[in-house]
Amino acid sequence: DNILETKELLFVYTDKTKALENVNIKIKRSQTTAILGGNGAGKSTLFLCFNGILKPVGGTILYNGQPLDYSHNGLKHLRRKVGIVFQDPDNQLFSASVYKDISFGLMNMKLEEKDIRQKVDIAMDRTGISHLKDRPTHSLSFGQKKRVAIAGVLAMEPEVLILDEPTAGLDPCGVSEIMKLLKNAQKELGITCVLSTHDIDIVPLYCDYTYVLSNGNVKVEGTTDQVFSNK
Ligand code: ADP
Ligand code: ADP
Repeated sequence: DNILETKELLFVYTDKTKALENVNIKIKRSQTTAILGGNGAGKSTLFLCFNGILKPVGGTILYNGQPLDYSHNGLKHLRRKVGIVFQDPDNQLFSASVYKDISFGLMNMKLEEKDIRQKVDIAMDRTGISHLKDRPTHSLSFGQKKRVAIAGVLAMEPEVLILDEPTAGLDPCGVSEIMKLLKNAQKELGITCVLSTHDIDIVPLYCDYTYVLSNGNVKVEGTTDQVFSNK
């Protein structure tokens, strides 16, 4: 059961850089999939295509078996269901407090105040940041900001959580805390995680399936056990 799938995906930037070519990827529902590859391999471009921020030049992306709908409402729906956590939390946090940052997306959905409060509380609890609720986000540590960014996306109750380098810049303890909270979201909520990482050690521990991209192509794919036993 694939929640996201790309078929012969082609993406070319306006300066003619071919970032993805003939990319066929299947993301299995409620699993964690790692997308590996060096700088410039095409990981970020793929992620931006997955949630409709970038529109492919060729090929197809299916979400729950349906081609992405690039209409205003289609994209609004997609971005709620396929959430992205960027590598640098400062790119998605800009409110006066942790609570306000996490509630930002829900406010845009025009939910009732009490529903928002409930969803934000659950998201803060899940990410272990309830005690930071009233703190200005800019005063937090990098690892805490990372959690706020994840909480803001989780609060929207997405089906898929896409994370660009979720463990970059964290100490080993921070890495395992972040990966454990993602694993819990997968187990308890059935969330599908797709992540890129340079932290090879975490892949066999936390990821079910692995793709390796190079120069915009899939070079290797398989269950993480298969991919790592062939190394
Ligand atoms: P990764 O995330 O794996 O580092 P990217 O998806 O960022 O890879 O980049 C894939 C290719 O697209 C690289 O050659 C990169 O230089 C190029 N690229 C990325 N963003 C842009 C852009 N905005 N304009 C032109 N080329 C870009
Ligand atoms: P949800 O049930 O997840 O809260 P809604 O039904 O409120 O989502 O839909 C939010 C917006 O997304 C609406 O404008 C709707 O037209 C659009 N939408 C709903 N389902 C889809 C879909 N499968 N594909 C594209 N757009 C959709």
